[in-house]
Parts: sequence; structure tokens; C-alpha cells
Amino acid sequence: MKGLITIRIAIDGPAGAGKSTIAKMIAEKLNILYIDTGAMYRAITYLALQNDIACTDEKALSKLAQESEIMLIRSCEGKQLVVCNDVDITEEIRDPEISNNVSLVARHEGVRKELVKKQQNLARQHDVIMDGRDIGTVVLPDAECKIYLTASLEERASRRYKEIRTKGYRESYEDIKKDLEERDFLDKNRDVAPLRPALDAVVLDTTNLSQEQVVSAILKIYQQKKRGI
Ligand code: C5P
Repeated sequence: MKGLITIRIAIDGPAGAGKSTIAKMIAEKLNILYIDTGAMYRAITYLALQNDIACTDEKALSKLAQESEIMLIRSCEGKQLVVCNDVDITEEIRDPEISNNVSLVARHEGVRKELVKKQQNLARQHDVIMDGRDIGTVVLPDAECKIYLTASLEERASRRYKEIRTKGYRESYEDIKKDLEERDFLDKNRDVAPLRPALDAVVLDTTNLSQEQVVSAILKIYQQKKRGI
């Protein structure tokens, strides 16, 4: 907990653009808290599926979001854990079934209202780098540094394919590409807090950049913003 909050970095962008990997690397370099807001929407989706709540049932989903305690914890080994109502669901929320349903849950105003409240509370107490879809536009509209991270659909699908294969899932490249495309469509076209770059965000296309190059580009932008350049 900090007395004076000085750092707020917002990272938005489409699915699979590398937001979480990059945000984690920057959080380590700046020694600030990394908040994966997508994990929160995934946690509610997981609970909904577990409790047979339909992705169209806004009232029940909002209640779930309001009543659930979602904790994003850093383990001793440096791993980000997602603990929901005292249960570790870090691995479960990455299941393709969750990916296929999460945008349907995240489109509801009532769900977003509850989760945005939790996210803003965290940012009030810590220096943060937060990634998601509406961080620069809704959650932290006055963040000092806003980045919109993107990459071609093919590159994002191929990165995600490699990542989930190492976790043992057997989804095909084509299925992953389709999932990313569908999620982006839903996220960009929903009525509430659609995915789009904030007017004052810097758009970074990472298709041909290494992770290190992206991190150093963002750190440079952050330093410039801090100095008011
Ligand atoms: O970041 P990740 O891909 O895990 O996010 C999963 C989904 O959660 C997104 O596709 C989107 O529907 C939703 N989301 C959102 N707003 C955020 C973060 C995630 O709507 N700030």
C-alpha cells in the first residue's frame, strides 16, 4: 500500500497482442503492481459456467461479480495467481471454454460496473500497470501513460497457439484464430466500454517487434510522459 500514487500505466488492445507478458515485464522493471483485468472477467465467466448461469443473464452475472472476491496474487516464484472466493483458478480460467464465453459475459454493463469498481480501488492503493480493453478509456482515464498494443491477427494467433500448446491444450491454429477474431469483434462492437484506443494513447504495432523491443519502447514513452514531453 502506498501513500502517494505516482504511476498508472494503461495497456489496452485486442486479444493475443502480448499485453499481459509485456505488462508483467514492465511491472518487474518498475517494481509496481500488475493487474490483469481480463483475468477478472474470466473468473466471473468460470463461476457462471460452474453455477449454470447463462451468459445472457445479466442480473445473475452482475450479482456474481458483486459478491465474488477476486484476488490477483504474486506467488513466491513470481507467478500471477488468480484466487476467487479462496479457490485458486489460475489454470482453469485459461481453458478454451472460458475464452469462448468471456466476451459474452464482459459485454454486460452490470458486470463491468462491479469489476471496474474493484479495478479502480486497486489503482487507488498501488502504483499499477493494468491491462485490458477499457483501461485508458474508462478504468484509468487519467493514467499518465496509455498504450494501445496491437499486432496482425495471424501473428497474434501464432503467438497464442505456441503459448497454449506449452500448456497442453490441443486447439488448432485455425480455431485459435477464429476465437481471437470473434472476441475482438464482440469487444469492439459492444455498447458498453468497447475496445478502442483512448484519444491520448500511443498505438504500438508489435507484429515485427521482440518482447524486449516492446518493453523498451513503452518504458521510453513512459519516461517521456513523466517528463511531460
Ligand atoms: O485479456 P484477456 O484476453 O484475458 O481478456 C478476456 C476477455 O475479457 C476479453 O476478450 C474481453 O471480452 C474481456 N475484457 C474486457 N475488459 C477488460 C479486460 C478484458 O471486456 N478490461
